[in-house]
Amino acid sequence: MLNTGKKKILTVRTLGDNVLHAKAKMVSGVDDEIREFGTKLIETMYAKDGIGLAATQVGVPLRMVALHVDPPTDKAGNVIMPLSPGETELCPKMPLVLINPEIVSFSRALETCEEGCLSVPKIYAPVERPVSVVLKAQLLDGPPVLLDCGGLLARAIQHELDHLDGVVFVQRVKSPDFEEILPALEKIIRKSGNKNYTIKRLVAESA
Ligand code: ZN
Repeated sequence: MLNTGKKKILTVRTLGDNVLHAKAKMVSGVDDEIREFGTKLIETMYAKDGIGLAATQVGVPLRMVALHVDPPTDKAGNVIMPLSPGETELCPKMPLVLINPEIVSFSRALETCEEGCLSVPKIYAPVERPVSVVLKAQLLDGPPVLLDCGGLLARAIQHELDHLDGVVFVQRVKSPDFEEILPALEKIIRKSGNKNYTIKRLVAESA
């Protein structure tokens, strides 16, 4: 059913590919096929130097996400405390595959940080998101979790869960940053050969 073939490293779809805008379906049960696919997601994420990869990005519309987020460190390499409960619990277990992840609540506080995406190669732009989220998920190799996540982990979770709902981060980039990256985005879209593709923005069109 997953039909991802024998290759260990999967092809990451890029902007212009409609599959990136499909809403992913719940995983009904974890079997060998799902486990094998989870391993391929992790291998592909590492091969492309990403910190997260959603199943949608490799053309599989299932609610699964690979993550490898390390805790923040200072120049000497010491972990900067305090960590959120989610970072404390999940960072030591990385890489992880989340099955049917959901965000059950978002912090009211917002923060703007630069994001990038394997589906939008070499493009970085600021995105405003809640600072922390409460994540509910099943770990592929572990128990169900319900954790308050902050830091880069919170941002990666929101970015990856957006993918499962068919949203790519560039849709959340505000003006004038959006107009600045637009020519580069159009180049990626042209390369895809999809002539009917338009970026549906989720933020106000003008600042
Ligand atoms: Zn992405």
